Parts: sequence; C-alpha cells; structure tokens
Amino acid sequence: MVNRFRKSYVQKLTFALIPGRCILCQSPSMRELDLCLSCEKSLPWLGNCCIRCALPLPDNHQHAQCGKCLRKPPAFHSCITALRYDFPVDRLITGFKHQRKMHHGSVLAELWLQRCQAQLGTKPDALIPVPIHWRRRLFRGFNQSLVLANDLGKALDINVLHAISHPRATHSQQGLSAAARRKNLQRAFRFLADVDIKGKHLVIVDDVVTTTATANTMAAILARNGAARIDIWCLARTP
Ligand SMILES: [Zn+2]
Ligand SMILES: [Zn+2]
Repeated sequence: MVNRFRKSYVQKLTFALIPGRCILCQSPSMRELDLCLSCEKSLPWLGNCCIRCALPLPDNHQHAQCGKCLRKPPAFHSCITALRYDFPVDRLITGFKHQRKMHHGSVLAELWLQRCQAQLGTKPDALIPVPIHWRRRLFRGFNQSLVLANDLGKALDINVLHAISHPRATHSQQGLSAAARRKNLQRAFRFLADVDIKGKHLVIVDDVVTTTATANTMAAILARNGAARIDIWCLARTP
C-alpha cells in the first residue's frame, strides 16, 4: 500500500504547543502519539496466530491455521490485527467504547496503521464498519466501528461504505445452540440493496473480534451479494 499515515499540519502544530501525554502511565509521551515508548513495548502484541482468523496459537502449533478454520473455512479471506485483547488493551477499548474516550480509539488506530500497513498488499475498494443497532447507538452516542473505519479510511485514502444495516437488536446469545445463534445473527443484519459491491475487495472494520461469528455472518452476506474478497481489520483479537 502506497499511502503513509498522514499527519495534518494542525496535529503537528498542536503537538508543538501541547506535547502528548501517555494514555496508560500519564507521563509525557515525548512524541506525537499519546502513548510512551515503554508502554507501547509492554502491550500484548499478537505473536503466532492463525493466518486466516488471527486466533492466537501456541508457538508449537503444527498448522498455519487454527482447527476451526481448517474444519470450516470462514467466508472472509484474512483477519488483520496486531494486538491481543488482554490488559491493558481491554481497558483502552472499554474506555473508547463505553466512556467516550475517543483518543484511546485514535491511539489504537494509529498503532494498527504502524504495525499492519505493511501486510496489506493490494488496496481494498472500500471499508465497511460493523453496524450497531440504533438503540445501542443512541445510548452510546456513536458507533465505534464507524469511527475506526473513518480514521483508517482517511489515513489510507479508502472510502467507507454503508453496505449493511443492523435493523434488529441481537438478543443474548447465551444458552442458544450454534445453529440458533447463527440464525439470530443472520436475521440481525440486512444488506442495503442499492449498494453495488460486485467484484469488489471489501474490508469489514471492527474494534474487537471475539468469536468471528459477527464478521463471518457479514462476510457471507457480502459474498452472497457479489463481493470478490472480504478481509477483516480489527484493533484486537480475543485469545
Ligand atoms: Zn506510558
Ligand atoms: Zn483460524
């Protein structure tokens, strides 16, 4: 990918006037990112993982993919992330999502760009944020996946496309069989028919990928509607 993450003049000027403070240890970060080098080094970086779904794998794992992906290949091509959803990344993401600490989201998005940009290969046609139900959006005030997709899209010069809506609230999945859970998820999302995605390379953007069920359901919907390739970009992957 050709585009480097661009720092705007305003950001540089702001940094010159008010130097950054580390969002983890609160000491001056001594650089344009609000995270000091030593806190960055101590983050739970993703080591050996499944090349398909990024599930963390033990170092002695015999295959490049996890057992689940080998048994049933997902509808997406790959999941690109750099962090495990462990302390303190879980705390940062909770702050971003539930306490409106938007700078947590921007720091994590910038780390993603620094660590993942080299593995992207060809530039995708569009980014698709995971939609949230309107009631949750109203309660939270924003959709964190859309904020991330906008940040990454701006940095990499890729359009953000609203191709899938979330008209039905997803009820608790607890206690349901795998088949019932799949059905529940499938009914929760709807493809917006006026969007043309035929032959396109699309990326689903999410904050955390836990079971891949949501991303996989969305990828299957996009594939059914003609997308040629679907990837997932997320800030962190649950072990
Ligand atoms: Zn720090
Ligand atoms: Zn996998």
